[in-house]
Amino acid sequence: MRVVPHSVEKLIDELGRLPGVGPHGRTISFFILKNSPERAQGLGRALDNLHASVRSCRKCFQFRRR
Ligand SMILES: [Zn+2]
Repeated sequence: MRVVPHSVEKLIDELGRLPGVGPHGRTISFFILKNSPERAQGLGRALDNLHASVRSCRKCFQFRRR
């Protein structure tokens, strides 16, 4: 098995936990790595802001802007 830097291994691991991703986490990680840093940062920011900007309604469970 090819040795990859820890940061890549971490991303593969995190992506692999997502539903429907599983073993494709490796492919997605390398895709992100081959693309521009700006796109990776955009993805990171989107994830970073998610919980801060969205809440789910306690009554109907729909997602709403905070
Ligand atoms: Zn509601």
